[in-house]
Amino acid sequence: MAIQAPATEHINAYEVALRQYDRAVAYLDLPQGIKDYLRHTKRELSVNFPVRMDNGDIRIFSGYRVHHSTVLGPSKGGIRYAPNVDLDEVRALAMWMTWKCALVNLPYGGAKGGVICDPYDMTPTELERLTRRYATEISLLISPHGDIPAPDMGTNAQTMAWIMDTYSMTVGYSVPAIVTGKPINVGGSQGRKEATGRGVIICMDEALRRAGHNDPGEIRVAIQGFGNVGTYAAKHAFDLGYKVIAISDVTGGYYNAQGLDIDDVMAYTEHSHHNLLEGYSKADKITNAELLALDCDVLAPCALENQITEANAADVKAFLVVEGANGPTTPEADDILFDKGVHIIPDILANAGGVTVSYFEWVQGLQSFFWDVEEVNRQLGRVLIKAYDDVVRTQEQYNVDMRTAAQITAIKRVGEATRTRGIYP
Ligand code: NAD
Repeated sequence: MAIQAPATEHINAYEVALRQYDRAVAYLDLPQGIKDYLRHTKRELSVNFPVRMDNGDIRIFSGYRVHHSTVLGPSKGGIRYAPNVDLDEVRALAMWMTWKCALVNLPYGGAKGGVICDPYDMTPTELERLTRRYATEISLLISPHGDIPAPDMGTNAQTMAWIMDTYSMTVGYSVPAIVTGKPINVGGSQGRKEATGRGVIICMDEALRRAGHNDPGEIRVAIQGFGNVGTYAAKHAFDLGYKVIAISDVTGGYYNAQGLDIDDVMAYTEHSHHNLLEGYSKADKITNAELLALDCDVLAPCALENQITEANAADVKAFLVVEGANGPTTPEADDILFDKGVHIIPDILANAGGVTVSYFEWVQGLQSFFWDVEEVNRQLGRVLIKAYDDVVRTQEQYNVDMRTAAQITAIKRVGEATRTRGIYP
């Protein structure tokens, strides 16, 4: 059964990323040529390739891999499987990866990949053949020291295992550091699966603590998306005692004013059709649009971009928005929320926990020396709180909103590194 995603307004994510960049870079004293350089992607690969489907038919799929920057190190970024992926979306996501990695001080540039397909409408064997062929097509760009993919929407640890195996078969030996977000039994890191969602809640908790909210039981949290990011954000918030009153996925929203038992919800989705929330009975059904406008304290969009727009920003009732997804808020919505006094923890900070633990996984893979989950979580907390502090300091210095401050902090680091490296030749 194909599950249709709810219609979303078409807004070009790359235009959003460029507008955010222009807004932030204007504060920086960098040569104009460097500002122009960082506004461009470095290289873009488009591939069209055949996949044999289970019924014997051959279907042609299209995919991309884009490097935005390699100034600070190898490029890093996830691979997205979705029906509406396009080159501009991949460009935007690659650019955001550059800023995210720089913001949390990882020695990485930014990249992203995507394949136009509907993973909910394909069998595991079809997905495996698609993944192996796509990995081979983009092997021109990926390598453990050049470009390291990870999961994103529509892909998961199993997808990464297939990519790792495909690459390893080609070179003739196992290369765990070719991807991150792998299953633990093939060199994945403890804590990686939970890392992005955990990081979302670490940032939320930090913001609430700084604002004097010290009782998690009083805080009502609504989370859009119950995939990798949304599930573990909900789980960590629930474990810390926050009241998660609403969650959602492509099948709609699920609301319980008393707070949902996230362990119970996770037990349900573990065995449900495509791990979806459809049919979960201990909550009232609402729409995704209603979830965004719910009477709550914290709203965490953890699904996809362009969810809070000019059309619905005025309806947001939360006083804090924590962006688990990449690009969930448009620049027009940013302005509306800012005027309403809604505080936003921007994506490149709030969801940086995933790439941070991906970095730990890569380091562990290269060293063949593995850490326990306590060490992973301790280092994750340290990295995110340091980045949070850096953003707040920039915010005070330039008197700007938190997104602009995060972008200024990151662009400054990449821009100065570019200047230090010099322009070749
Ligand atoms: P996922 O595929 O695991 O989950 C996506 C969730 O969004 C699913 O619950 C899906 O049902 C839901 N969804 C899809 N379309 C929707 C719609 N129209 N309305 C409401 N819900 C919808 O993906 P993920 O890895 O959790 O990624 C989610 C977001 O977080 C993306 O923006 C991604 O780029 C970003 N992100 C992911 C990671 C990571 O480590 N996985 C890291 C950083 C940022």
